[in-house]
Amino acid sequence: MSGDGKPWTTLGFEETQTAFQGPTQRARVWTEGWVARSMFCPNCGAEKISQFPANRQVADFECRGCSEEYELKAQKSRFGAKVLDGAYGAKMLRLASDNNPNLLLLKYDRARLSVTDLFVVPKHFFTAEIIEARKPLGPLARRAGWQGSHIRLDAVPLSGKIALVRESILIPKETVLKAWRETLFLREEGLVARGWLIDVMRCVEEIGRAEFTLHDVYAFEARLSRIYPDNNNVRPKIRQQLQVLRDHGWLVFEGRGRYRLRSAQ
Ligand SMILES: [Zn+2]
Repeated sequence: MSGDGKPWTTLGFEETQTAFQGPTQRARVWTEGWVARSMFCPNCGAEKISQFPANRQVADFECRGCSEEYELKAQKSRFGAKVLDGAYGAKMLRLASDNNPNLLLLKYDRARLSVTDLFVVPKHFFTAEIIEARKPLGPLARRAGWQGSHIRLDAVPLSGKIALVRESILIPKETVLKAWRETLFLREEGLVARGWLIDVMRCVEEIGRAEFTLHDVYAFEARLSRIYPDNNNVRPKIRQQLQVLRDHGWLVFEGRGRYRLRSAQ
């Protein structure tokens, strides 16, 4: 562990005396206040990220140092396989743009008035496959025809869920920044190429061992064929992704079809 070991913040909320009425509003003031006060930028390491003045459609915070944007989702229950998100059309439009926001997922404890878990999904893990359309609202709804979205957290590899707080323990800032840097290479890839890399990363992680063979990854051939039905060369495609992941240091070739995850060193 590097750095001076000093925790980068405290987990308690400060805005506990707010006069807001509803519990949802109160929780929003608590969690947004905490992020504005505590959160550093995992991209450039700046000490703070700033809240956007008004409610914007997609992003909530911005780093003044590197212009990276962040969207905050906070809830008191554990995050499951899917997270509810905003308008599907707007999400898809933002997907390919430079200022697509990173996603901050914060879980808090209402009784203790504190943050218990926080992780960030860097924007380069978002692909069309991860943003799922919800059914449009019916004709009788106030916003008839409006279509929301889900973010499929279950389709994001572990490398794309970077913990900042886990079970009320702060992860050292250096550890967070390092984890962030390790997958930054995905930003250089187009959306489709990124999709393949992310899917292969997920397969490799599912093997569940730091060392694995090409054969272990081929075991996911059927699944990848279902995701990419037009591709008839899934095995060569898998090898190609492993090479790109090797070139960027995410894994290491040990020779003779054996591989090792870099993060497991
Ligand atoms: Zn920054």
